[in-house]
Amino acid sequence: MSPNYVRDALLAHLPPRSRRYQIATGTKYTFNCPACTHLGHAPDTRQRGAIFVNADGSTGYDCFNCQLRTRQQPDKHLAHKMEQVLGYLGMSEEECRKLRFHISAALYAKNNGPRIQKRDLPSGAILIKHLVANPPDDQSFRDVMADLEDMNEEIRDSYYWTAEPGASGDMNRRYIWFFGTTHDPVGWAAKTIDDRDAEDILSDPNIWLFVDDED
Ligand SMILES: [Zn+2]
Repeated sequence: MSPNYVRDALLAHLPPRSRRYQIATGTKYTFNCPACTHLGHAPDTRQRGAIFVNADGSTGYDCFNCQLRTRQQPDKHLAHKMEQVLGYLGMSEEECRKLRFHISAALYAKNNGPRIQKRDLPSGAILIKHLVANPPDDQSFRDVMADLEDMNEEIRDSYYWTAEPGASGDMNRRYIWFFGTTHDPVGWAAKTIDDRDAEDILSDPNIWLFVDDED
């Protein structure tokens, strides 16, 4: 479950001596509305301000004296009026700025997946499809092809191989597949043929979480 920043901020700034009620949609907290005097009304002494923390993650504010009302969905940018409410409840501008940032960052991650650093294929990588017709005289290439013997040809041909051992010293003992499209490569994973239990080398630790929207 993703964090609910607005709910947490509201609860962290509940006025002292607020009263808590269970209601059908969740929890309601009432207190003397701190906004009334800012909005040209007499100070509230009758607990007419209310914060709603709903079971669905939404939150709200309601004062039936100064009429300040707002609703906030958990997966939306911070509503302007909700930001005002938090200000009246004592949240500083700096805290509000951080809150906006955290909400925006969470929304970005939700809509775009985790950030994945784009990486080019390992040096010298060539599509196996282009190598099978004219195989290089290289024992490692023959070993990789032997390892992939039982594989569907179309899938096998979509992998890459490089003659260069590279930084890991064994990249030529691996077959490589890449994520993204040929126009927009995102990264890759490389599986060794020498140890079935070995971890793959990944261009980015999150590369398995990459989802191609075009699929
Ligand atoms: Zn009010």
